[in-house]
Amino acid sequence: MQGFRHDFEAHAREQFPCEACGVIVEGQYWRCRNIADEPTQDFVLDPWDYVVASFYGRIEAIVHSHPQGGIASAVDQRSCKQTKIPWHIWSMPDDVWMTIEP
Ligand SMILES: [Zn+2]
Repeated sequence: MQGFRHDFEAHAREQFPCEACGVIVEGQYWRCRNIADEPTQDFVLDPWDYVVASFYGRIEAIVHSHPQGGIASAVDQRSCKQTKIPWHIWSMPDDVWMTIEP
């Protein structure tokens, strides 16, 4: 188990029932704000948080939670391609981690 998962799971539980999101920088999980209009349905990573995280090193991956469970959505797949880095998703009800690649 990679270390960031433990930190992310704590964040995701705090944000429940909203989706939590963040980035991996140099192997460490970095919390970001979800500024989506409907954060229980979706996530939009605060662009300012993303910029601040990038000051500390290369952003290696994006992480978000699915509080109601489920696999990566079509929007997730498309957005992942745009960011050109892997996305890690934690499906909370069944405690399953998945990774999609751009
Ligand atoms: Zn998603």
